[in-house]
Amino acid sequence: METLWQKAQDAWLFRRRSESGEPEITAGTIVYGAVLRTLVLLLGTLALLGVMPDLWRYAWLVLLALWGVVVYPAYQRWREFSERVEQLKEELLCGSCRYFEETGQLCTLLDEHVRSDYIPCEGLSWEPRTEWDE
Ligand code: SF4
Repeated sequence: METLWQKAQDAWLFRRRSESGEPEITAGTIVYGAVLRTLVLLLGTLALLGVMPDLWRYAWLVLLALWGVVVYPAYQRWREFSERVEQLKEELLCGSCRYFEETGQLCTLLDEHVRSDYIPCEGLSWEPRTEWDE
């Protein structure tokens, strides 16, 4: 059961959860989340400019917010994503399959996301990855 705090975090990070409650992270959602947060920050800054015309004297605050709101969360999620991909490659059958696409954690044959608790083909369509596939 997700708490209200987890729901707020998921919304802010543009993160979905699987039915089992595990967060689904893809390269696309990381980029999309960063773009959305940048947009929110930009709109917030423009709104503040209406109230405080001399806001540009505090440009470092905007840059700090850019780091804290956009860059750092995206970096953290990218690290989480990379660790998860490595974990999937080591632990799951899909990691050694030619149809596994790492950046999307996707089975390209069935066009479904692979998770630690879900192998879309249940192993029936596995084909070994060759050195030419990489
Ligand atoms: S074909 Fe099967 S084993 Fe290969 S990536 Fe897709 S789900 Fe995984």
